[in-house]
Amino acid sequence: MKTLLKKDELRKIALKERFCYNPIEQSRIIVSRIINSKDFIQSRNIALYYPIKNEVDITKILAIKDKNFYLPRCRGLDLEFVPFSGLSNLVNGQFNIKEPIGEKINPNILDLIYTPALIANSSKFRLGYGKGYYDRFFSNNKIKAKKIIVICSSFICDDFVEDSFDVAFDGILSEK
Ligand code: ADP
Ligand code: MG
Repeated sequence: MKTLLKKDELRKIALKERFCYNPIEQSRIIVSRIINSKDFIQSRNIALYYPIKNEVDITKILAIKDKNFYLPRCRGLDLEFVPFSGLSNLVNGQFNIKEPIGEKINPNILDLIYTPALIANSSKFRLGYGKGYYDRFFSNNKIKAKKIIVICSSFICDDFVEDSFDVAFDGILSEK
C-alpha cells in the first residue's frame, strides 16, 4: 500500500531534492517540446514564468517574436499577469521573483498558461510553494486559457492527495 504524505512534508522533500538539481538538459528539451506543440503554435497570448530555485527554465521562449508573452506578479494575495516587454523591464518582486513592470492585463485574454510546480500528480494537480497563488487566481478569475504544469519527470508522483481548493490543470509537460 502506498503511503501518502502531507503536502508540506512532500514540499520539503521536493525542495531539498531540487536544490541539488539544475535541470539544464531537461529545460532544453521542454522548451523544444513547448514551441513545437500545437497548443503553443495555435496560441497568441501566452503566460510563462520566471524560474527560481532550479525550476525548469523556459525563458528562452520569451525571445520568440510573433507571440504576446505575459509573466506573473504577486500583489498581496493576488496573482496578476503583466505583458513581458524585455528582460531589462523586470524587477525583483514580493518573493524575490523577477516580475514585469507595467499594467496588469485582464486574464481572460490569455490562451495558454505555463506554470511551474514542486510536484505534480497524475490527476494534473500541482503542489506549489504552499501559498495557493495559482489556486486563488483560477478560482477568482474567469479563465479560458489552457493550463499546463511544467515540471521535470522525476517530480511527477502520486504521494499526495489534492485538497478541495486545488485546481486541476489541463496538462503536464516534462522532458519525457
Ligand atoms: P499551493 O497551491 O501553493 O501548493 P496550497 O494548495 O496548500 O498551496 O494552498 C495554500 C493556501 O491557499 C490554502 O491553505 C488555502 O487556505 C489557500 N487557498 C487556496 N485556494 C483558495 C481559494 N480559492 N480561496 C481562498 N484561499 C485559497
Ligand atoms: Mg494548491
